[in-house]
Amino acid sequence: MELKLYDTLTKEKRLFVPLDPNNVRMYVCGPTVYDFAHIGNARPVIVFDVLFRLLRHIYGDKHVTYVRNITDVDDKINDRAARDFPGMPLNEAIRKVTEQTEKQFHADVDALGCLRPTVEPRATEHIAEMRAIIEKLIANGNAYVEQDHVLFAVATDKNYGKLARRSLDEMLAGARVDVAPYKREPMDFVLWKPSKPGEPSWPSPGGIKVQGRPGWHIECSAMSWKHLGEKFDIHGGGIDLVFPHHENELAQTCCAFHSDRMANVWMHNGFLQVEGEKMSKSLGNFVTINELLKDWPGEVLRFNMLKTHYRSPMDWTLHGIKESATSLDDFRHHTKMAALDVSGNVSADVLAAMSDDLNTPKAISELHLLANKARAGDFQASMSLLLSSRFLGFDPQRVDAQDIVRRQHGTIDETKINDLIEGRRSARARKDFAESDRIRDELAKMGVAIKDGKDADGKPVTTWEIAR
Ligand code: AMP
Ligand code: ZN
Repeated sequence: MELKLYDTLTKEKRLFVPLDPNNVRMYVCGPTVYDFAHIGNARPVIVFDVLFRLLRHIYGDKHVTYVRNITDVDDKINDRAARDFPGMPLNEAIRKVTEQTEKQFHADVDALGCLRPTVEPRATEHIAEMRAIIEKLIANGNAYVEQDHVLFAVATDKNYGKLARRSLDEMLAGARVDVAPYKREPMDFVLWKPSKPGEPSWPSPGGIKVQGRPGWHIECSAMSWKHLGEKFDIHGGGIDLVFPHHENELAQTCCAFHSDRMANVWMHNGFLQVEGEKMSKSLGNFVTINELLKDWPGEVLRFNMLKTHYRSPMDWTLHGIKESATSLDDFRHHTKMAALDVSGNVSADVLAAMSDDLNTPKAISELHLLANKARAGDFQASMSLLLSSRFLGFDPQRVDAQDIVRRQHGTIDETKINDLIEGRRSARARKDFAESDRIRDELAKMGVAIKDGKDADGKPVTTWEIAR
């Protein structure tokens, strides 16, 4: 099977050829663990989970290594720890914040149907590797020590800016670059900096006497090196990470190891937006995964995410979620029998769509076609629909239909329904058909369908169910 992926570095969709098909290697930048993740943060997690599943399908479960790190050293973590646990020693408070947040993150993305990556390295457990890379960069003349900081000298890397496709001038103008007395050039970025009293700190590289801590970018160069090697196949993350984070990772890794590339393919998901703006903590327009999971099954949220191609921006709307719930409920209905004894394969059309740079909207339209066939009585299609849905990471059989309808229509008031049905029965008894029709319509508006039949003794009865 041929897999094509779009590479941000070369700006082209290319045939994917792994460096080693026995060990296909992917690194994705993971969360900074200081707060609940929002649904925008879930986008890369879901997108690269789908890719992980596809790679496992093509190369075999044991031949794919997926690394997604946990950033557990960061100013935002320190600030949150000091705020939430005043009076506690900072390092202890930091551990509390990172442990709680990591646990919450796992619970959230598990509920969204994401497999755990092969390795989830923590930054604080890779300080030795960070120091080793920094020493190499100093020895190679790509980094310098100034006022207890180590900085990467951007001018020493002729390839700097290639990923973001910006010139130095453009990068200077576009990025909020700190001018600092310890920098030779404004674009130079921090590899290591001194820790303030009480902050997490480790022995410094470069002969610096005071203890310090790493900059953000060096963390990913160190963790990808440790777990995937100097060169690997795929590096992923959100589009906002292209510059400066990935540009800097690329510069560090290539200059440290004298190599021409870090990853063969660089992949970036587009933004999840709210009314045309990026969902983000700083804009305050975010909704957490945790909040959404109180209202919707994880399958529905995942399905909704996959309706848009990963590189396109997507608007997150209630309307979209409701439509996704209806689709999944439809799939659930048409896979009920198949689930009892499923066999067969994932649809070739779904696989073809996924192999074309993860075309999930196309894959989902193939699922709808399968559902149509299943509706017409095609049992093979029904099995394929179930297996293909599971392949994409959502199982329609796990979605509770009544639950979905209740969420869409509000709580069901059974007493009211029974009263209305009784009212309709007496209207019919007195041959007031206008009134009985009106009551049927009122029930329909509540999402309730009624059915007139006879009980075991032949007496007329009216049953009701949630309308599908
Ligand atoms: P952060 O915690 O901001 O570093 O983000 C963690 C991951 O989520 C990164 O890969 C970001 O690119 C990604 N991300 C953050 N906000 C959004 C968004 N609104 N849409 C899509 N991806 C996002
Ligand atoms: Zn990273």
